[in-house]
Amino acid sequence: MATDSFGRRIDYLRISLTDRCNLRCVYCMPEGGVEWKGHDEILSLEEIERFAGIAVEQGISKIRLTGGEPLVRYGVVDHIRRLRAMTGIEAIALTTNATLLPKFAADLREAGLERVNISLDSLDPAVYKDITRGGNLADALAGIESAFEAGFDPIKLNVVVVRSLEQDLFGFAKMTLERPLHVRFIEYMPVGDDAGEGTAGAEGAGCTGDNPGFHWTPADHVPSDEVLEAISAGGVAAGLGPLVGVEREDAPGGWGPARYYRFADAQGTIGVISPLSHHFCSECNRLRLTADGKLRTCLFSDDELDLRTVLRSGTDDDVRAIIKTALDSKPENHNERIGTSRRMSQIGG
Ligand code: SAM
Ligand code: SF4
Repeated sequence: MATDSFGRRIDYLRISLTDRCNLRCVYCMPEGGVEWKGHDEILSLEEIERFAGIAVEQGISKIRLTGGEPLVRYGVVDHIRRLRAMTGIEAIALTTNATLLPKFAADLREAGLERVNISLDSLDPAVYKDITRGGNLADALAGIESAFEAGFDPIKLNVVVVRSLEQDLFGFAKMTLERPLHVRFIEYMPVGDDAGEGTAGAEGAGCTGDNPGFHWTPADHVPSDEVLEAISAGGVAAGLGPLVGVEREDAPGGWGPARYYRFADAQGTIGVISPLSHHFCSECNRLRLTADGKLRTCLFSDDELDLRTVLRSGTDDDVRAIIKTALDSKPENHNERIGTSRRMSQIGG
């Protein structure tokens, strides 16, 4: 079992397979995209698998693949098959924008992927197109259907809540009534370009009317408690009753800090993830690997360990040593520091 210097059990590794994406969500990527890393800068799937094999020996048992959009990485299905076959891996999960799921869902399931988190921020085609800068809502909805058909469990929908975007949050909440879909509302985080000037309270670069949501500002932050109150009030008005809390043992299996609620008799749940309004550093259980081979011990810390060099020129013991360094140097909390130099697509969410 791996523990860090604060006694936290670290058993969860998020691996970014690529910094590339087929969408350009306003809060995640600049319109022109970021400068793609060259082929040699990105870890090969073999390098990732070597690292994962050693990390599993050291106590990692859960792996999430993310990106960029992980489904644009060539060879992702067989990669999952090989990761899943490693002794000690409890489950593999994927975070995706779902637009390529119709093509991949059945093969991914057959390769051993159990869980998918789908990111979707609007159910209105025009708003979705604006948020993703050109995406087609029908593709994402078809992706959700293919996830159900393929039998993933749980299926979670991640909605980043941004005040200046037109989002029908109650519309998302209603999706939990008839099917076992778990909708999680995530507080918009200041990530990228040292957003928010690096501190939780600072003014960000300013959200302009013609580019809502692009730069995090305090005004765009919607605390999760406000989201829950609005949805609960919507439920009462619609005759569904208020939201009720879901005990941890009844919540959809999760590896993170979401808090869950539901409408009475609903098949799915409603969760909130509140990195800004409710800090959860004391429960942090994860390490992150970027597509270019940097090991990050905290989402909000740009102190990265150069794993790529070690993977390319070092022994397995050198890799073990860098994992130990990561565990020993993982900060207790992010000390209110929340800006990062990388945007989320370059970290992996
Ligand atoms: N492309 C995949 C997707 O969209 O699911 C995986 C990568 S994406 C970077 C991972 C998650 O990070 C998505 O749910 C996305 O909405 C979320 N995300 C990106 N930027 C964010 C931000 N500034 N604050 C909160 N969540 C963010
Ligand atoms: Fe791509 Fe996901 Fe970022 Fe949207 S949130 S731009 S889908 S990586």
